[in-house]
Amino acid sequence: MRIILLGSPGAGKGTVAKLLTEYDGSIQISTGDILRSAVKKGTDLGKKAKKYMDSGDLVPDSLIMEIMEVRLQETDCRNGFILDGFPRTIHQAQELKKTLARLNIELDFVVNLEVPSNIILDRLSTRRTCINSSCQEIYNVKNNPPAQGGKCKKCGHDVIQREDETAEAISDRIKIYNQKTAPLIGFYENEGFLENVPSLIAPETVAEIKKCAENIKIKKRVVAGKKN
Ligand code: AMP
Repeated sequence: MRIILLGSPGAGKGTVAKLLTEYDGSIQISTGDILRSAVKKGTDLGKKAKKYMDSGDLVPDSLIMEIMEVRLQETDCRNGFILDGFPRTIHQAQELKKTLARLNIELDFVVNLEVPSNIILDRLSTRRTCINSSCQEIYNVKNNPPAQGGKCKKCGHDVIQREDETAEAISDRIKIYNQKTAPLIGFYENEGFLENVPSLIAPETVAEIKKCAENIKIKKRVVAGKKN
């Protein structure tokens, strides 16, 4: 499948994307993960992105588009991709539309993950993430804590609270989401791509998205049949 996951910070984009990769070989592309890894490695991109990320602000569109233009052409995208955390602004969405057209890639649909704001706040402040950039397993101190000593159950690395998940950064990220990213819901609704899906229990959300993917496959078969 070729889809975009939209949703406020804490809506479950990362968790849902990881579960969806097991469905049909589509890969997860998280711009947040790409940027965090660049910051950790101290690359040029990381140095440029760090100050925006630490304050919960968005990294400039030009940097993000440079990364995505290259990433979408890598061979592992051929079986499909789940865009997690990208696009984040109307400008990125417009640029993505042009990039996909140029690369002859057809988007299937866009999922808007819907979660009430009180649940978002609770999820973000209790979330912990494995620091190992190739693992990044997500935990929750209330209902899915890491192993003893705050270690990751999968790889044994430390599990930490991300710098952008302190109370202050969370409130800034939500404000920025409402200002800059929420308008994408209307953008994709106008484009005829939008599917609103509740994101309270991850396996149920994933099942709903798989249903949308199956429906799209059927529609495409019907259209192809009519053409032949
Ligand atoms: P995430 O893990 O998706 O919440 O991203 C963490 C941080 O990375 C965000 O708060 C932004 O600073 C930056 N970031 C990730 N994706 C984007 C994007 N598409 N556009 C701009 N900034 C981004």
